[in-house]
Amino acid sequence: MNAFNPLELWNLCLQEAEKNLESTEFESWLKNSTYEDINGTRMVIRFRNSFVAGHVKSRFGSMLEEILREIAGRNDLALQFVGDPAKPGPSSSDAVTPDNSSSSDSMYLRSNYTFDHFVVGPNNQLAHAGALAVSRDAGSTTYNPLFIYGGVGLGKTHLIQAIAHRLRQEDSRRTFRYLSTEYVVGTFIKCVLQKDYTKFRLLFQGIDYLLMDDIQFLEGKVETQEAFFHRFNELHQQGKQIVLTSDRPPHELKDLPERLISRFQWGLVADIKPPEYETRLAILMLLVRDEELDVSHEVLDYIASSIRKNVRQLSGVIHRLAAISRLTGCNIDMNMAQKEIKSTLGTIARRLTPGTITSAVAEVFDISPGQLKGKQRKRNILVPRQVAISLIRELTSMSLKDIGAFFSGRDHSTVLNSIERIQELRESDPELNRRIEEIKRKLVSI
Ligand code: ADP
Ligand code: MG
Repeated sequence: MNAFNPLELWNLCLQEAEKNLESTEFESWLKNSTYEDINGTRMVIRFRNSFVAGHVKSRFGSMLEEILREIAGRNDLALQFVGDPAKPGPSSSDAVTPDNSSSSDSMYLRSNYTFDHFVVGPNNQLAHAGALAVSRDAGSTTYNPLFIYGGVGLGKTHLIQAIAHRLRQEDSRRTFRYLSTEYVVGTFIKCVLQKDYTKFRLLFQGIDYLLMDDIQFLEGKVETQEAFFHRFNELHQQGKQIVLTSDRPPHELKDLPERLISRFQWGLVADIKPPEYETRLAILMLLVRDEELDVSHEVLDYIASSIRKNVRQLSGVIHRLAAISRLTGCNIDMNMAQKEIKSTLGTIARRLTPGTITSAVAEVFDISPGQLKGKQRKRNILVPRQVAISLIRELTSMSLKDIGAFFSGRDHSTVLNSIERIQELRESDPELNRRIEEIKRKLVSI
């Protein structure tokens, strides 16, 4: 886990959360939590009773996970909140009472995910303009829904929360609800179990703006999709503004009914791409200013040149450097930055071996890794094999010769042919192209 052990990681996570919350909230709910254990990629955090654990999960859970992933530079980490089962509910010693205000069903907002803290570049210009426009005029038909999509860590959550902040600051008459799709699905499942759908319906009532993050989690949730479809129509007909984010464009969402996908395309569909060098540098300068750090231009240039695909990794590096500098009392210099970048990139590189790439390809094409590496030349195996070869070439620094050797001793011209063939196919076969993008997303999303 990069430079930190889980205990330190949780403490850093708390420090960051404290900056985002009212002090009374932090004191009441989070301050006395303790790191207990790590279970694979799931960190277990203990609270004084199961009531507090449950409340923290529903109110701050996704925010804490976001912070954790950012600081650790890993996207696969998750949190589990547990309480002492011997003390299941609020006791007289608990200073706080459960709050039933509407904010408890709206997820928590990160305090710095505002428009002021969002650097606009050619990579995110349209999405940013769309977000600004809808926060000015609700439901202006051309941008409804606003559908923002892009890869992991590129600023989707930041932008959608920026809309929420703007509404909160400027016009208290306009109401909004910010929800993670996982929370919506979870609420729906609870309603199914209790045979009472009131809670689900209430999520979408009495609001001018529905801000729903990570809509790709609706994939495969047929009943939630159906229920959401009706809520979506209702809000849209009433001229309420809907904003959705996703890691893919609408037509690439799998297992979603066509009618839902076509509704997602009614308004403005805007993508966010990885930022160019200048935008990366500008983001770093903003982060450094926020953290009140003193970092030379040379070091910033080095970081901006090294980390190219994911803004969360950029901010993770700065947060970790800030923490190390505070812990050790040393200034952030080139040496420290190099070490940190090496460990960040090392985490990525470890995932991108020929083996992991082959397994990911095999999984998506539903064949075995053995078949991929073997000798069969049937088209349903040949094409996936060529995909694996070209992805290994793209994502690792392996030579053509070594890649050939990995695939049962093929020679380097076969490898080259495969790469060229896939290049052609990606242009002529959109479905194959979509699958390759899906594999890449899986592989680089750490
Ligand atoms: P996503 O939801 O797309 O996975 P996030 O919105 O969580 O990504 O962004 C990851 C991190 O990168 C956050 O800390 C966010 O503040 C930061 N970030 C992303 N894009 C920008 C930007 N254009 N300007 C400033 N910070 C950004
Ligand atoms: Mg997000």
